Amino acid sequence: MSENLNTIWASCLSIIKEELNDKMYFENFFEDSKLLEIKDSIAIIVVASPLEKKYFESTLPYLEEVLLKVSETDFKIKIMTESEYQNSSSHQVEMAKETNSYHDNLNREYLFDNFVIGPSNKESYQAAIAVCSKPGKLFNPLFIYGNSGLGKTHLIHSIGNLIKENKPNMRILYVTSEEFYEDYIDVARQLKGKTNEWFDLKYRDLDILIVDDIQFLRNKEKSNEKFFHVYNDLFRQNKQIIITSDVMPKQLDGLEQRLVSRFIQGLTVSINKPEYETRLQILKCKLKYLGEEDINFINDEALAYIAEHFINDVRDLEGALRRLIFYSINFNNSRYLSMDIIKEAFADIKIDSSSGNITEQKILKTICNYYNLTKNDLIGKSRNRIVATPRHIAIFLTRQLLETPYDKIGKIYGNRDHSTIMNSYHKINKLLEANNLEYKTVIKELKDLLIT
Ligand code: ADP
Ligand code: MG
Repeated sequence: MSENLNTIWASCLSIIKEELNDKMYFENFFEDSKLLEIKDSIAIIVVASPLEKKYFESTLPYLEEVLLKVSETDFKIKIMTESEYQNSSSHQVEMAKETNSYHDNLNREYLFDNFVIGPSNKESYQAAIAVCSKPGKLFNPLFIYGNSGLGKTHLIHSIGNLIKENKPNMRILYVTSEEFYEDYIDVARQLKGKTNEWFDLKYRDLDILIVDDIQFLRNKEKSNEKFFHVYNDLFRQNKQIIITSDVMPKQLDGLEQRLVSRFIQGLTVSINKPEYETRLQILKCKLKYLGEEDINFINDEALAYIAEHFINDVRDLEGALRRLIFYSINFNNSRYLSMDIIKEAFADIKIDSSSGNITEQKILKTICNYYNLTKNDLIGKSRNRIVATPRHIAIFLTRQLLETPYDKIGKIYGNRDHSTIMNSYHKINKLLEANNLEYKTVIKELKDLLIT
């Protein structure tokens, strides 16, 4: 078709050129125009700029006559600039997508692009990507479990969105198991116009079924049975099934045994609590997303504080970031976020602090294990680097995580005085500020050991 259009328009242009008999005029106004579409007897001519558009519009009857001569059809001509055309066609694509997307329930905000990968979720992420590359073939079902707020829902929407992008014709459905349950009840009672046909269309005519939080189907015998049939039906046809739960399949008591045994036929993966570095990256990622507003006052120190103190749940981590932004905008006029202000922002909420179960002695012991030293080595007099560096690090972590007074830290570490301890703290702090990779890695690993 587009080759056809090109030929038609080339013929038109050669007539125009001949009849116009003005080379410069022709080159300025006509040469770059294109006939890009003919739809519903309207021909769309695209020109470079609004100036050309004006000119073309003033000669419309003439152009339509030329087009009639060449194509032997009476088309109306519509003139658009390049950018108008692009906007309108992407708009059309969007509209087509919208009408095409019966309700897949996918949240378009949850994408792999904004999912931060770390050791805690790598396995699930890799399984998710594998499923996207060969839906229904590699891992069926894919079963992802983990505590609330660790990214299961985000990940399974990302799967749906990526498959949708690669294979727009696949029918995908995301539901929570609660929604499945409600549908089942409505169908059983013939409520809200939900008939069996409606149910089959929604659940059986699918390529990908994503069921979030299956644990809500516990002890709901009849809907369990209904789900079992839906599951089998899709599975038999090699349709991909993805399920999440807060516990592993074996612990899903209250769910039909035959269903649980189906779940473990595929691949089961878990999502765990994110490590410090992953938490920090998630915060940076969320900050980028919020980046419309003027929030560059959120400095690295603030992000590190949140990452250190909100450790159990990504949802809480995000909440803490929003809280700090809100607090800073409303209560901190200077916009500089000092540590005092950061602490003030969280003063009246309960922090599931990483330091909750960390003690000075735990830090000391962790460092000894990490460096294979004895307690006496660590608190002793030797200034040999082999023990002095771990000592500085232990002092640094004690101060940073627990805010123990320097004097008290001095007592723990071989009765050293206040200024020696302070120097140790600053020494490590400076190296970290200078982005020293070796020290950054060590501190991160130690924090992970201390926190988990
Ligand atoms: P779950 O379903 O496991 O309860 P969600 O998927 O709802 O958790 O995640 C809670 C919030 O945390 C969401 O806003 C999600 O975007 C965010 N989140 C979780 N893990 C990540 C991650 N690895 N990268 C980016 N955001 C994440
Ligand atoms: Mg969820």
